[in-house]
Amino acid sequence: MTTEIDRKIAEEIQAHQNFLIVSHVRPDADAAGSLLGLGLALKQVGKDVQMVLQDGADKFHYMPGVDLITQAPVGKPDMIIVVDCSDPTRVGNVLDNYGKPDLVVDHHKTNLEFGRFNVVEPEQAATAAILFDHIPLWGLAFDADVAACLLAGIVGDTIGFRTSNVNSEVMRKSAKLMDLGADLTQVYSEELVKKPFKAVHYWGAGLNRIEQENGMVWTSLTLADREKVGYAGNDDADLVNVLSSVREAEIALIFVEQPDNEVKISWRAKSGFDVSGIAFEFGGGGHAAAAGADVKGTLAEVKQRVLVATRKLMQENAQN
Ligand code: 5GP
Ligand code: MN
Repeated sequence: MTTEIDRKIAEEIQAHQNFLIVSHVRPDADAAGSLLGLGLALKQVGKDVQMVLQDGADKFHYMPGVDLITQAPVGKPDMIIVVDCSDPTRVGNVLDNYGKPDLVVDHHKTNLEFGRFNVVEPEQAATAAILFDHIPLWGLAFDADVAACLLAGIVGDTIGFRTSNVNSEVMRKSAKLMDLGADLTQVYSEELVKKPFKAVHYWGAGLNRIEQENGMVWTSLTLADREKVGYAGNDDADLVNVLSSVREAEIALIFVEQPDNEVKISWRAKSGFDVSGIAFEFGGGGHAAAAGADVKGTLAEVKQRVLVATRKLMQENAQN
């Protein structure tokens, strides 16, 4: 169904030539896939498009068009689009010299609707799934490359169709993307199966100090761990997904030490829990089942504060 907002967005897209699309720091497959899917669809109709991820997109080498992604914008675009970000700080500093985004496309429950137009649909499993609906309404079309990027976003955010928000509609969209030429086996394997040796070595450090208490399972990764194994990323290499596969884990957490006295936290929750609120309280955001935040402090301090708050959330949940 085309809404008034879709009609206005379509008009603005048609009227403008230079586009800047950005997404979040420490990009995941939905960030990169949504950025590329929309970017390639705009390029297809002759638009000039900058696609910018502050942290780059090397690990998404299997996505078509990934080489077009840069780490900083240049010049003055006519239209700025932010995908898969719930608040403006999530993009890092790439929009520091630019005004309010023209369009925000996102599926986070904690979205602050910080664009001139906001297409925010929290019930959707991925931003890529939202784009699947809206790309045709905005006067754009799919080709095999756009389809591959969008399928990569859906597979990434649903962890291979495993999250509780996966429904028949998500499966139908994915099937249509496959019909358009997206290769599910390749995307699945690149995103969820193959891991670099260094990432698995890095997991080892975290798995070594795994802890549990009444349905909470957590661990931490230090800067020293990263250095020891030579892991180049500043993330958890998706170890949190391993933690959340622990049968006893109602809520899994990971603490990843960052430079400059900061800790990145990821929460993963089983159905029946909502960790988006707690992430928001700590300055982050996300979904009921998966959320994150960057918190200032030492690893020990942040861990202590976050475990206290998460324990409280579990207790409140048990009472309701
Ligand atoms: P992850 O734990 O994998 O980084 O993220 C889980 C979910 O929470 C993702 O949808 C992600 O976009 C969101 N998220 C993670 N960290 C932050 C953050 O610092 N701020 C906000 N607003 N959302 C975050
Ligand atoms: Mn997403």
